Amino acid sequence: MKVVSVSCGPWHTVAIVETSTIDRKYHNAKSCGKLFTWGDGDKGRLGHVDSKRKLVPTCVSELIDQDFVKVSCGWTLTVALSNRGTVYTMGSSIHGQLGCPRAKDKSINTVLGNLTRQFVKEIACGSHHVAVLTSFGNVYIWGKGANRLLGLGDVRDRNSPVLVESLGDRLVKTIACGLSLTAVICLHKDISLTDQNACSSCKSAFGFTRKKHNCYNCGPLFCNACSSKKAVNAFLAPNKGKLSRVCDSCFNHLWRITEFSNKVKMENRTPRMQLVTNARRVSDERTETESEDQI
Ligand SMILES: [Zn+2]
Ligand SMILES: [Zn+2]
Repeated sequence: MKVVSVSCGPWHTVAIVETSTIDRKYHNAKSCGKLFTWGDGDKGRLGHVDSKRKLVPTCVSELIDQDFVKVSCGWTLTVALSNRGTVYTMGSSIHGQLGCPRAKDKSINTVLGNLTRQFVKEIACGSHHVAVLTSFGNVYIWGKGANRLLGLGDVRDRNSPVLVESLGDRLVKTIACGLSLTAVICLHKDISLTDQNACSSCKSAFGFTRKKHNCYNCGPLFCNACSSKKAVNAFLAPNKGKLSRVCDSCFNHLWRITEFSNKVKMENRTPRMQLVTNARRVSDERTETESEDQI
């Protein structure tokens, strides 16, 4: 037998072990990743019928029909990913980290909600929270929200998967969780030579009368007409709190995020909440200088 993936919590360990089984449909041998757990079984984190500790690796019999590819452990939590892109959780439900609103400790759960009909390709587990990356490049997250580690703009716990909208249309390559933090690695978009000679949006050639301007959110060059607006929180801006020039498509995108976070703040009933308009046309700005147009 071959161990293909392993993960440790503070007091328990989970391994995916490749075993050979007979395919019932095609009657041929195929390898299959089975889940083995051992260590402290408190809160059902080992996925067995009881919560007793196991001194040797023990197969999780309830999930014997699944083929697992990845596993990740939290404090009192085990998260496993099957080859069908389905996420299973077991362990403590105190902060909603099982991803199922009705889940109780000591049960094996299939995470559904917003992940229904999605194919998950990466999982990562913090001490009490879980992040997953889908085949569409979206990051969903749930569990303990303290210190805003879920990236959802507040500190509330979530008991089912929530899309991290602040990542927007970034190309997320992979995700990772620390005990109380979440990290994602995003790919930078390439800029081709053609982009340098013409506006990335309207394709008009740059020249003496049509100057180049970088979008401070996505990077490529645009003409003035296609990048006439400014927004806060632009990804490449040196100061994210300041208004920076962005292309029209990034402006609309950042505007939606601002509206979304304002809505969340309103829902949290912040006292004397004021709707702040964070973006306006460049022409309204008196402080614009030519030097800041090039990144
Ligand atoms: Zn243009
Ligand atoms: Zn842009």
